Amino acid sequence: MLSLWNEVSQKQNDIPHFHLLIDGCWKCLSSGEYQDVINPATGEVVARVPLANQQDVENAVTAAHRFFQTLVFDPLERIEIMLRASDILKNYQEEMAKTIVLESGKPISIALSEVDATIERLHLVLEEVRVLYGEYLPGEWVKDTRGKFAIVKRRPLGVVAAIAPFNYPLFIGAAKIIPALLAGNTVVVKPASDTPLSLILFVRILEKAGIPAGSIHVITGSGKEIGDTLVTHSLVRAISFTGSTAVGEHIARLAGMKRLHLELGGKAAALVFKDADIRTTAALLCKGAFRNSGQRCDAVSRVLVEEKVADTLLEALREESQHYFCGDPMDPKTPMGTVINEGAAKRLDALLEDAKNHGASFLAEKKRTGLFYPPHILEINTECRLAWEEIFGPILPVIRVKNEKEAIELANQSEYGLDSCVFTQDIDRAFRVAEKLHDGSITINSIPAHGVGHFPFGGNKRSGIGREGIKYSIDELTELHTIIVSLKEEK
Ligand code: NAP
Ligand code: MG
Repeated sequence: MLSLWNEVSQKQNDIPHFHLLIDGCWKCLSSGEYQDVINPATGEVVARVPLANQQDVENAVTAAHRFFQTLVFDPLERIEIMLRASDILKNYQEEMAKTIVLESGKPISIALSEVDATIERLHLVLEEVRVLYGEYLPGEWVKDTRGKFAIVKRRPLGVVAAIAPFNYPLFIGAAKIIPALLAGNTVVVKPASDTPLSLILFVRILEKAGIPAGSIHVITGSGKEIGDTLVTHSLVRAISFTGSTAVGEHIARLAGMKRLHLELGGKAAALVFKDADIRTTAALLCKGAFRNSGQRCDAVSRVLVEEKVADTLLEALREESQHYFCGDPMDPKTPMGTVINEGAAKRLDALLEDAKNHGASFLAEKKRTGLFYPPHILEINTECRLAWEEIFGPILPVIRVKNEKEAIELANQSEYGLDSCVFTQDIDRAFRVAEKLHDGSITINSIPAHGVGHFPFGGNKRSGIGREGIKYSIDELTELHTIIVSLKEEK
């Protein structure tokens, strides 16, 4: 069906089989074993990808290291390749979006905007290279550096391991690969097992744009089986990981002195005060909770609403939620597709069951059909797991609070610290509350949205280490290199 697919896969029993990319060769594979990629909307096997083993990881990392040492990847060429890749991706926009839908079950409208964001991200390299400039520091202002000056510059680290999650299978991986390569690193990328195809195709597009063989390698397979080998490999200098807090912390424990950039779980609170514009707020909260079936680290994951407006808000949420229903993900009018797999759906079932057992009242409750999980809004108390755990599904729990102080306390009691948002028309309150919240980003009068990273984002507390975004990602993937020059007095 899809032309890019034919370039990097071969049919066996009518199922496309994809390959690993190691050292410029799409066929290297030690184990001979494959895993299925399943369309969550139909349950069909859409493709199979290699189950890489430790030897494949070893081959990929050593090849990436060897290429890094040869330093043949010219900086100007790197920019040109990214811009060319952006044009090529535009030509394959529809095919890429359909691939995302097939492997993730998200609606085509969201998949198309994911491809758009990736095209834009590639273009933004022109802005990003500006931070690769260094600094000149005169020494004469301090006694012990008199007669000297220093140049401080940024240089690449070496081999970067980029590990991606399932929820934005193209964009999140691409947003790691682009700055890593631009800064002059080489990359070994490991896509999520549920959704490996769009990232494989993205790397194919980089190849078509002229990326030198050896600068990027793709390994697919179980993170559990090969993750430890990858993140502990002595030649890997940095790990750029987006995924769950549990896996992120596991990596952090193993990684030792490697550079860590970890984008982990979130539990965004929306603090809604009595002076908020309730109708607009309700529409935004539904989008924040239900877009991409809530499978977003920046999803609105709890509403803390001032008692006085709680009933009005709940009624407005009930009305707004009618716009969100599940349907055929390939239909451009469908607002919601599926959740990623049965494990995820069962976890959501358990969260709802727990809430029921703790006396939650449901506003909108419908049964799921397979992985098509409709939106749920419910009023809960702080005994419920939904008050504290990351949800990653289309469930919006609402908690009543007495006042501003209680809202801030509850928001900050979370072990996560990625995003939060504040809804009020009182400018003093807006800034006062924003100052007190512990998260990496606080949005006033809208919902958190990481977008292409023009504004940097990243987590505090158990939400991660480092910041993603134009300019900021480059910082995470380079190291400072200081050259000190001592000037001799004239004889
Ligand atoms: P996940 O289960 O943690 O998996 C993420 C990636 O890590 C996958 O490629 C996975 O491979 C791999 N992995 C698993 N075990 C590993 C190990 N021991 N060592 C190395 N890699 C390993 O996360 P997910 O379910 O795909 O994604 C959802 C999570 O991502 C949520 O918690 C969400 O909040 C977070 N997220 C955060 C951000 C942010 O910006 N902060 C953005 C998006 C998503 P397999 O697929 O083979 O298991
Ligand atoms: Mg799948």
